[in-house]
Amino acid sequence: MTTTRHLPPHAWPIMQPGWVWLCGAGPGDPGLLTLHAANALGQADVVIYDALVQEQILDWAPQATHIYAGKRGGKPSAKQRDISLRLVDLAREGKKVLRLKGGDPFVFGRGGEEAQTLVQHGVPVRIIPGISAGIGGLAYAGIPVTHRDVNQSVTFVTGHDQSGNTPGSLDWDSISKGSQVIVIYMGMKHIQQIATKLMDAGRPAAEPVAVVTTATTDQQAVLETTLGAVTADIAAAGLAPPAIICVGQSVLMRQVLDWQGMAKGEAPRNLDPLGRGRPAESA
Ligand code: SAH
Repeated sequence: MTTTRHLPPHAWPIMQPGWVWLCGAGPGDPGLLTLHAANALGQADVVIYDALVQEQILDWAPQATHIYAGKRGGKPSAKQRDISLRLVDLAREGKKVLRLKGGDPFVFGRGGEEAQTLVQHGVPVRIIPGISAGIGGLAYAGIPVTHRDVNQSVTFVTGHDQSGNTPGSLDWDSISKGSQVIVIYMGMKHIQQIATKLMDAGRPAAEPVAVVTTATTDQQAVLETTLGAVTADIAAAGLAPPAIICVGQSVLMRQVLDWQGMAKGEAPRNLDPLGRGRPAESA
């Protein structure tokens, strides 16, 4: 078996027995996997994957055993500690273990915890970053997370704290004042509270918001709304997680950068959505 079947020539790393490679799978579209991920999929004995990993990606590892370690269909989720210890066990059995997580493993993905447990148990690890949904998912919706006319910073936040229940542990007041663009992961459950906190802290009800669900997949849906209307509009549109919610003027850029719509023949809605009145290519 060659390990570089689909890859251009390069000194691709070889998976060694007893190692765990902790790897991002990107937001969904298999084309957004990294080449290191493809290299790993071609070599692994075992792939342990999460709910957000598109199952078609597993077809790239036909030689491997596929183990599901997420929450789906109402089944209780595997406990984080159990998953980490399972990885330790598989590595100690001498398996080449690929731990595949949605997006980037170190972005709201508990990858740091899993890797720490592995190292604490003496298991060698390799980390393969991935395209995070908060960047790549928004790009597929035609929303640049930074734009010189909009923001010099961007804040990524999770709508869940560790208890999974409330966004209460975040200082939304500071986030609201300090962040021109806010990208919210896991924000659907508490969107009403989050939107209210941001508005209470001074963000206008008319501020643009985008909700992008199952981004980069065939089911991708994009809702353009405002902070004041986002909760009702999500309900009216029947949108469900996983979703990335983007708050800020960069959402307006979708009016000129909805490249998927344009690929289907739609005209750009507005060539100058930020109203700069000058060519965008100025230095
Ligand atoms: N490590 C992942 C994030 C895991 S947390 C990453 O870097 O992307 C899970 C949250 O990620 C979801 O609740 C949702 O907010 C976001 N997410 C992941 N994949 C997504 C997708 N395809 N579309 C929209 N949101 C997604």
